[in-house]
Amino acid sequence: MYSLIEKLRDTQELTKKEWIMLIEHLSSAEDNSSVAEYLFAQARTVRRAQYGKKVFIRGLIEISNICKNDCYYCGIRASNKNAKRYRLMPDEIFKCAEEGHKLGFRTFVLQGGEDSYFSDDVLTNIISTLKARYEDSALTLSLGERSQESYQQLRNAGADRYLLRHETANDSHYSLLHPNTMKLETRKQCLFNLKKAGFQTGSGFMVGSPYQTTENLAEDMLFLKELNPEMVGIGPFIPHCDTPFASYLSGSVKMTVFLIALIRLMLPKSLIPATTALGTLHDFGREKGILAGANVIMPNLSPESAREKYTLYNNKLHSGAEAAEHLEMLKERMNKIGYQITIERGDCLCTNTTPNH
Ligand code: SAM
Repeated sequence: MYSLIEKLRDTQELTKKEWIMLIEHLSSAEDNSSVAEYLFAQARTVRRAQYGKKVFIRGLIEISNICKNDCYYCGIRASNKNAKRYRLMPDEIFKCAEEGHKLGFRTFVLQGGEDSYFSDDVLTNIISTLKARYEDSALTLSLGERSQESYQQLRNAGADRYLLRHETANDSHYSLLHPNTMKLETRKQCLFNLKKAGFQTGSGFMVGSPYQTTENLAEDMLFLKELNPEMVGIGPFIPHCDTPFASYLSGSVKMTVFLIALIRLMLPKSLIPATTALGTLHDFGREKGILAGANVIMPNLSPESAREKYTLYNNKLHSGAEAAEHLEMLKERMNKIGYQITIERGDCLCTNTTPNH
């Protein structure tokens, strides 16, 4: 296994067969085994050569939990009648950003369900206002699938980055996680359109989603290699009680951190968050992610009332070090493991797009 890790580190790629062998082997290894220690050490070295020991922070503003989609895994899916729906108005979004900028955030992420209120024109107004007010800050959107024209308009309005996980790169697995109105092909096309529109683009998937196989994970790695995104977000699947997957088991923290390390070796310059889902499943989940090669944390800047309602899965963290207002706590936690939170936009070193200023 050591030779496969070295091959990945040196050439940044593996064949599908090699990916399957490596992931299979890791799934039966402990996270304190010598192969795991070796993998994490390699990932940290690669990350240090690119980004030092900096941890970039992003202020996450959850703008709406109204969604037309019905993804089987997601707590804000359209047919969850128990979800208490909300939407932030532009002025509420501006208030969150104002607060975040004072706290030291220089990237804002507007994330939400596919809510038709947020038309291209409404978003254009929000984006241009935020970019005019905070010239030193980057703006990331995570608002799902839209047309190429829409992505281009949002990019032209000044948005810098866009996050859209592919969720799984296998067609039949995709159709086990989504209703048949949603297609993997469309998702992939959106990702390539985002790149074409000039966005720093983020993709990713859930680890341990229902029916996921080792072969699926190998396909996820191959797709990420092909897409070559600037950002990769992966986190464990966690069930939500009001979804068809309520009784499925969560994904594992261990496999998530192994995959973070492998992604760091495959895409050395990528921005990889230690996600909220990782922090939700383990008290030191974020630290484990950073020690496996992640370099981004996205604390929550949403208003208190929205945080409770943006429930993608059971027990989703939104307090303590997860809350933007407790940045000091997060700084201390990162210092303890030898890393430093930094106040800067934190663009991807690999970007071939011009940041919007
Ligand atoms: N609507 C946008 C989209 O689809 O990209 C952004 C919001 S969506 C809720 C953000 C991400 O949450 C999804 O890409 C998915 O991977 C993750 N997510 C949803 N339900 C989850 C669950 N039960 N466990 C872990 N992650 C989940």
